[in-house]
Amino acid sequence: MSRTVHHLLQAIRVISFVAIFAAALNAQTTRPEAEKQLAHDIYKEFIEIQSGFTTGATTPVAEAAAARLKAAGFPDADIFVGGASPKKANLVVRYHGTGARKPILLLAHIDVVEAKREDWSTDPFLLTEKDGYFYGRGTGDDKAQAAVWIANLIQYKKEGFKPDRDIIVALTADEEGGGPFNGVEWLLKNHRELIDADFALNEGGWGESIDGKRVSNDLQVSEKYVLNFRFEVHNKGGHSSMPVADNAIYHLAFALTHLSEFSFPLKTNEVTAAYFLQMSKIETGPGKDDLARVATGSQEAMQKVAAASPVWNAALRTTCVATQLEGGHAMNALPQLAGATVNCRVLPEDSAEYVLASLQKVVADDQVAITSILPMAAGPASPMRPDILAAVSAATQKIWPGVQTVPIMVVGATDGRYLRVAGIPTYGVQGFFFDRNDIRFHGRDERMAVQSFYEGQLFLYDLVKALSQPAN
Ligand SMILES: [Zn+2]
Repeated sequence: MSRTVHHLLQAIRVISFVAIFAAALNAQTTRPEAEKQLAHDIYKEFIEIQSGFTTGATTPVAEAAAARLKAAGFPDADIFVGGASPKKANLVVRYHGTGARKPILLLAHIDVVEAKREDWSTDPFLLTEKDGYFYGRGTGDDKAQAAVWIANLIQYKKEGFKPDRDIIVALTADEEGGGPFNGVEWLLKNHRELIDADFALNEGGWGESIDGKRVSNDLQVSEKYVLNFRFEVHNKGGHSSMPVADNAIYHLAFALTHLSEFSFPLKTNEVTAAYFLQMSKIETGPGKDDLARVATGSQEAMQKVAAASPVWNAALRTTCVATQLEGGHAMNALPQLAGATVNCRVLPEDSAEYVLASLQKVVADDQVAITSILPMAAGPASPMRPDILAAVSAATQKIWPGVQTVPIMVVGATDGRYLRVAGIPTYGVQGFFFDRNDIRFHGRDERMAVQSFYEGQLFLYDLVKALSQPAN
C-alpha cells in the first residue's frame, strides 16, 4: 500500500468516524430537521425585519409571528397584537393547558440595537450563514429566543402536547434603551391578565464557552440596573481667535479623562459569589484558584480576575463609561456647550445616589453639571426556586453532559426587571452558547453559532416541557 493510499484511507476513516459521531451527536442535540427548518425560517424572517430601537418598528415582527401562529391553527382569540404606539406593537399568544398550575410566561424582545451597513462585514439586516455562524443584528439579542419560542409553541400544538399550565409567549417592543414604548411595561399596565404568570423565562442567561468548549449554562437570577448621566458644561463662548483658558470642551475633556481613570470598588454579592465558586470548579487553567478566592472576597484575586475579562470586571463592580459626545457650534467660535452621555451599569446593592455622588467626586469640577437621564429603580432578585434550577440542570445535562448550571447576575439589563418588580419572578436562560470573550451583542458583526442556535432550540423545547409537564 502506497503512503498516499494509506493516508487516503486513514483520512476516509477519520472522516467517516467524524460523520458517524456528528450524526450521533446531531440526533441528541437538535430537534428533527423539519423543526430546525421552521425555527430557521422564523429566525430569518425576524432578523430581516428592521426593528431598530430608534429607526425601526416591531409591529411587522409581531404581525409575522401572528401570521405563523394562525397558519399553525392558533385561534384569533388566543393571539394579541398591540402596544404603546402603532409602530411598537407586541405579540402575546396563549397555548392552553389544563390550568392545574399558574401559567408560565416565555418572553423575548423583538426590537434591536441600531446597526449601520457600513460598520458591518455583512448586511446586518440579512441573515447570513458564514463559517458556521449566523450573522445579523439580533442573531443573539434577542431574535433567536423569539423565533425559538414561536417555533416550539407551534411544535407543541402539532404534537397535541397538553401542559398542566398555560404557556404564554410574549414578544415585546423596546427593550433596548427603554422609553415610553417598552412592551413589558405597557402590557403590565394595560393587559396584565394577558401575561400574568407564576414565573417567566427570558433572555439574560446564556451558555458560556471558551475556544469552542462549553463550560457553563447560565441561569440569570438578578441583574445590574442602568443609570444614564449627562455631563454638561456651559460657557459664554467667544471668538476663537482670542481663546481663554476657561473652555467648555476642555472642562468636559478633563472630566471624562478623570472618569476614564476611575474604577468603582470591586466586590461580590450572594449571586456573584456563587457564580465565581461554580466557575472555579469548571476552570482548569491557572486562574482556577483566583476564582475560588474571589468567592471568599479576596481583593487581590478580584483585581486579577477583573483584569482578565471585561465580563468578569463588570460582574465585580459598578461601571460608568462615556458613550456619546457633543460640543461646539462653529469651527471659529469658542464652545458655549459641551456635553457627554455617561452610561452606568450598577450593582443591585449600589444606590443611584451613591453612583451620582461618586461621579461628582471623580469629576470635581463645579462647571461640569451632572444630571441623571431617565432614572431607573433597581429590580429585586428572583428567588432561587429549586424546581426551576433542577429543571434547567436536567435539561442541560441531557444535551451537554458535564456542563454546570450556574446562577448569575447579568451585567446588562433586561425587561426581567419590570416583571420582577411586578412580582413575577424572572429567570434568564437560553441554552445558546457564546464565546465568553467575544460577546457581540449591540456591536458589529453580531453572530450566533449555527449549532448553538439549534441546540438552544432543543434545550428550550425540553425545558419548557419539563416545567409544564403534568405530574404523574
Ligand atoms: Zn436583549
